[in-house]
Amino acid sequence: MKNDCSVVKDLIPLYVEGLVSEETKEFIDEHRQSCENCKNLLENLAKSYNEQETNDNKKEKIWSEIASKERKKKKKKYLTLSLASVILVTLVVLGVIFLPKPLQKIYYENQTTQYDFNFTEQTLAKTGFTENDIHVASEAVKKSFEEHSDDRKLLRLAYDEKETIDENKIVYNPNHADAIVFIGDYYFFEDPVAGDGSRLRNNWKWFVKKDSSGEWKIIDQGYD
Ligand SMILES: [Zn+2]
Repeated sequence: MKNDCSVVKDLIPLYVEGLVSEETKEFIDEHRQSCENCKNLLENLAKSYNEQETNDNKKEKIWSEIASKERKKKKKKYLTLSLASVILVTLVVLGVIFLPKPLQKIYYENQTTQYDFNFTEQTLAKTGFTENDIHVASEAVKKSFEEHSDDRKLLRLAYDEKETIDENKIVYNPNHADAIVFIGDYYFFEDPVAGDGSRLRNNWKWFVKKDSSGEWKIIDQGYD
């Protein structure tokens, strides 16, 4: 029996962890029924093994909870970051539309006015105007913006050849006969009193005509 005890003692750790063969298990079970020492030893070891396992489980649970919290934190951080970038991209795309109005003023004030006075000699001949007429007439539009430079900015000014030689337009308003038509865009720094309230006016037209004293003046303006 003493010999069996030392064999059982050696095997108890494996027995407790369930790592012994069926044969060995039967041998130990048989022995523990007749040996109080080994029975106690086995029960104590089994008890502390179970406690250890419970602690390990608890630890594992705590670690997994911590990991899960970290993951949630990361996820939240990631979501916050992507939301921020979506907002940023939207603002960039919409650009100056959402700029505060004082910033819009700075933005448009610093825009360089685009001038486009292209025309062909053939169509120019039909209008009866010279190239010089067009340039002098355009000065009338430029001058009107210089006079109101505190509240509007001319962004684009083009000679509207098609409009100038379009006979229908001349019939539509007799004052437009002999008028040179310019088209362009401009921006109001303050909300305009008249019109749709929009600060930006695209494809606005100016009709410039030489008066009796030979001076080019804006005689009409607006959308079509
Ligand atoms: Zn024993």
